[in-house]
Amino acid sequence: MTSAAGLTDRVEHYRERFAGFLTTEVGPLEEELARQDVGSAFNPRLDDAGRMHPAVWEARREVQRRSAKAGLYSPHVGEASGGGGFTRAEMQHVEEFVYHRAGLGLGLAALGWTEGANAAIEHCSPAAREQWLAPLVAGEITAAFANTEISVGTDVLAMETRAVRDGSDWVLDGHKAWITNAHFADVLQVTAVTEPGAGTRSLTMFLVDASAPGVTRGRDIPTMLDDGLTGELDFSGVRVPAENVVGEPGGGFALAMAWINWRRMCRGGMCAGWGAWLLERAVDRARTRASGGTPIGDLQAVQHLLADMDADVYTARAASLAAQVELDELPGGPYGMPLHPDAPRLMSLIKVVNDEAFFRVADRAVQVHGGTGLRLGSPEEKLFRLARNLKIPAGTVEIQRNAIARRLLR
Ligand SMILES: Cc1cc2nc3c(=O)[nH]c(=O)nc-3n(C[C@H](O)[C@H](O)[C@H](O)COP(=O)(O)OP(=O)(O)OC[C@H]3O[C@@H](n4cnc5c(N)ncnc54)[C@H](O)[C@@H]3O)c2cc1C
Repeated sequence: MTSAAGLTDRVEHYRERFAGFLTTEVGPLEEELARQDVGSAFNPRLDDAGRMHPAVWEARREVQRRSAKAGLYSPHVGEASGGGGFTRAEMQHVEEFVYHRAGLGLGLAALGWTEGANAAIEHCSPAAREQWLAPLVAGEITAAFANTEISVGTDVLAMETRAVRDGSDWVLDGHKAWITNAHFADVLQVTAVTEPGAGTRSLTMFLVDASAPGVTRGRDIPTMLDDGLTGELDFSGVRVPAENVVGEPGGGFALAMAWINWRRMCRGGMCAGWGAWLLERAVDRARTRASGGTPIGDLQAVQHLLADMDADVYTARAASLAAQVELDELPGGPYGMPLHPDAPRLMSLIKVVNDEAFFRVADRAVQVHGGTGLRLGSPEEKLFRLARNLKIPAGTVEIQRNAIARRLLR
């Protein structure tokens, strides 16, 4: 395996076009956003309800729509669903490039994130493909994945949200919390108990129209990300037509894991890209900031901070790429149903290695910048908070260790 694994012609082509898109499409939108004085794409002002300022959300949406038109929004989605059909190794290069180039700018919205389409939703019915999947791939609507509840995070199978059959429909009741994009999503990818006591077959995944009667968007849950994007959702007697069951009844746990595993694998490119960006900024700062009449980069103490950042970025990137290649080569690939038994360990390795390496990288980046690195809204300060956050969503780092050990001890 070399660092060129997955670096195919179509990745090169994507990167070239993405770079052009940032200049021609995103640049003017970013300037327009700056003129409105509503904060920036990833440091937005919040509205009175604590939600992302609508002008910032709309700027992100415009980037998504334009990116989808340019064929840049959904490279990770299967070709049969209108996406690029890229492998995970290819996606690691794409994600690394996007996060490195876009930094914390509006351009980051151009690559489908959790508000776009994902491998789990691709299991939906033909009717739902037309109603929900195609518009998601086209950036016309956005989604939210609603799995967590106030009293249930890690312990997914203990969830209380229920769906029962009523004729050909299902009726959904429950409450979800900590949901990214709860405030704005058009379609909600909800997991609910449909067969209590059936263990990993107890859940079903539904696509719920966010404007359906009985759906209420709850309060914002302010987090250290301070982006006004995390919220609650309430479902009270919501009727869901049978065609909005994703996959089959009882398949919800495996589908939820497909979504969660996707986020775990995305850590590889995300942390490689942002890590390289932070390292470049730190090197630049070390060259230009002086202490005692010489650049701080001449001081061994600072040189070691830079070297440790480089070591973490390099090793996490290499490990992730190796794991993504292995995942692509497994029978059924990274989204196989059923998933190959070697896959969870590899995905958890990607997540735990990156979450912890990137946290150290972000911490050292702040240290090299001194007080400037602590300035609210600086990239170092924001990414330090973001790095701390990464160790919890999509499965905590402890849960990744459980999955790794489970495979080792099998
Ligand atoms: C910013 C943000 C965005 C989020 N977005 C979404 C979203 O879009 N959709 C969604 O459904 N959820 C989302 N979540 C929820 C997230 O997935 C959960 O917070 C996460 O899974 C952890 O669950 P918890 O918070 O209940 O922690 P808990 O499960 O209460 O865990 C608390 C501690 O106990 C440890 N622990 C718990 N069980 C075990 C175990 N079996 N073995 C070892 N250690 C254990 C954990 O590692 C942790 O240290 C988001 C959360 C945040 C903060």
